[in-house]
Amino acid sequence: MSASQLAQDLHIHTTWSHADSSVVPEQTIELIAAAEHARIRGISDHFEHIADRFDAYRRAVSAAGLRVGTEIDGHRSVPAALDCPCDYRIFHCYDQGADYRALESLLADDIPVIVAHPNALDTDLERVPNECLIELNNRYIWRCDWMAFYGPYRNRFRFVISSDAHQPNWLGQSIARLAARELGIEETLVFEPD
Ligand SMILES: [Zn+2]
Ligand SMILES: [Zn+2]
Repeated sequence: MSASQLAQDLHIHTTWSHADSSVVPEQTIELIAAAEHARIRGISDHFEHIADRFDAYRRAVSAAGLRVGTEIDGHRSVPAALDCPCDYRIFHCYDQGADYRALESLLADDIPVIVAHPNALDTDLERVPNECLIELNNRYIWRCDWMAFYGPYRNRFRFVISSDAHQPNWLGQSIARLAARELGIEETLVFEPD
């Protein structure tokens, strides 16, 4: 463990997110494993890009010593995602009833559920179940008035801080941590350190 390491980063993409044009070819599982930028690390590639080879994905992430996650885009992908065991799930919750209901299905599977960058998707936190973890996402948080958006929910939810890295130099959380400090939010560590 080094002083420069972040506590936790569970929102990281790799080349397995092959249809995401922001991911660069150098963003491999191996490079992220070698970077050791956080004490608790998980890979969360887009479920829709890996659904047909989830077992191979899970093996590749596990073999690198990282937690296995996935990022699910709305309620339509949830039934298939529930058939793919992993350590945690990140969910794009759009502002529609079916997506808030999908959060209940995900929670019923008894592994952590993280609501991805709600400020970028107009997620209504009022409608999100208390058991969900809410993300402070370094890629998107600066695009909102975080005090106005997250402030009213500081005491209602537990929060995680993520990079949402798609490229090696995105493996950082400076702005999300600035927001967390200003909000007085202490992050929740979802797993034991690696
Ligand atoms: Zn996302
Ligand atoms: Zn993402």
